[in-house]
Amino acid sequence: MSYDPSNIFAKILRGEIPSKPVYQSEHVLAFPDISPRAPVHILIIPKGAYTSAQDFSEKASPAEKIAFIDAIGAIAAEQGVTETGYRLIANTGTHGHQEVPHFHLHLVGGRALGSMLP
Ligand code: C5P
Repeated sequence: MSYDPSNIFAKILRGEIPSKPVYQSEHVLAFPDISPRAPVHILIIPKGAYTSAQDFSEKASPAEKIAFIDAIGAIAAEQGVTETGYRLIANTGTHGHQEVPHFHLHLVGGRALGSMLP
């Protein structure tokens, strides 16, 4: 699948749609999900144009990948969920029910989430 620059997260990255970043670095942006499913629900996205976790895994540079992993820990700490824990979700492709075609990780926490594996 080729990258669609009209997707909503691309518009957020270009500043065409406002967001309230909770974290930002050279390669990563994170902001609250517009429809939070838990007290903490942050979307973490690379600034690069990657359609999915698969695309990011295959094409991102080592620096982008390291920055992304670093962001997870920093955001969890800033959100105060490192002790209680949290869940990371990367819906990917059709079977993964991915709605926005720009790679994003959901960081969800702030309450007990229960079991989720299908
Ligand atoms: O992983 P998936 O692609 O299904 O999720 C997309 C997420 O993007 C949803 O949780 C939705 O609430 C969120 N979203 C958002 N801001 C928008 C559009 C969607 O936070 N403007």
